[in-house]
Amino acid sequence: MIKFAGLIKLPGDIWQLDLKERGLPGWTAGYLVKGTGSKDWMLIETGPASSAPRILAAVDSLGISPEQIRYIGVTHIHLDHAGGLGVAARYFQKAGIWVHPRGIRHLIDPTRLIAGSRAVYGEEKMQLYGEVLPVTPARLHPAREGTQIRLGERVLEVWETPGHAKHHVCYYDHQTKGLFSGDAAGVYLPRTSKLLKRPILRPATPGPDFNGTLMLQDLYKIALSKVQNLYFAHFGAAAPAQLLIEIVTGQLLMHMHIAAGYRGKENAQQQLCTALQKYTLKGLCSCLGDKNIAADLVGNEMDLMLQPLYDSADGLLLNT
Ligand SMILES: [Zn+2]
Repeated sequence: MIKFAGLIKLPGDIWQLDLKERGLPGWTAGYLVKGTGSKDWMLIETGPASSAPRILAAVDSLGISPEQIRYIGVTHIHLDHAGGLGVAARYFQKAGIWVHPRGIRHLIDPTRLIAGSRAVYGEEKMQLYGEVLPVTPARLHPAREGTQIRLGERVLEVWETPGHAKHHVCYYDHQTKGLFSGDAAGVYLPRTSKLLKRPILRPATPGPDFNGTLMLQDLYKIALSKVQNLYFAHFGAAAPAQLLIEIVTGQLLMHMHIAAGYRGKENAQQQLCTALQKYTLKGLCSCLGDKNIAADLVGNEMDLMLQPLYDSADGLLLNT
């Protein structure tokens, strides 16, 4: 029996770990994937540097030695997914690190990554994310479309999904027909979905890299694939994949449509953010019935749903 809080065993030898990003439960998940017929493991997503000690503690609680972490894969280099990579690389000295080729130089020298992140997130959030340490070049492997990562007989395949950011990839696990989707398939709210008995998601479209056409292509590719399970970074495992993808695709089209009405207007980002928040809450209220979205039922999921819409509004306005 696993006692480590926030560590959940999923079918198919996968463990989902709540990384407690900035101390917030249920915000960002990492995954530990066990090899088949092998003692090797892969960690997918590290979260920010301040979350890295949780990974080490979770690995220890599973009785895995740090040397057994053969690979670390990040879906993209945004700090909520990969800010802790430099720390994790020091914990897991044997691990090769997979990242899209466009991300590699920013991990070797994170100066620009840190400056760009500070501009988007602000100083307070950067402090909560912790220090971004550089990664040694020899540890980094380019994760390109079709790259196969082997853990014994288990194969994870890289899918390039550039809609969220040019350096975004997903990892497809043939064994569970599961996709570690990073932010490509949006943000999923497990507690709210359970409460409302239907999947609740929203797209993640932050500037400056979001591209709506590419994100629609990414979603279409997933919809037509064999994927059955989605392992969201925000937050957790969910199925059936096709229904989830249909919902987030519809939401994305709606967000892009709403954004078109604000482009070029004064204070457009704040205005669009407010409009997206209103639209989202209206949608939730329409399926609430006699339930409510009280904090004790859904935790901080309304914050995860609504707060990042400010950054998402920026990407929607930049996207043309
Ligand atoms: Zn993210």
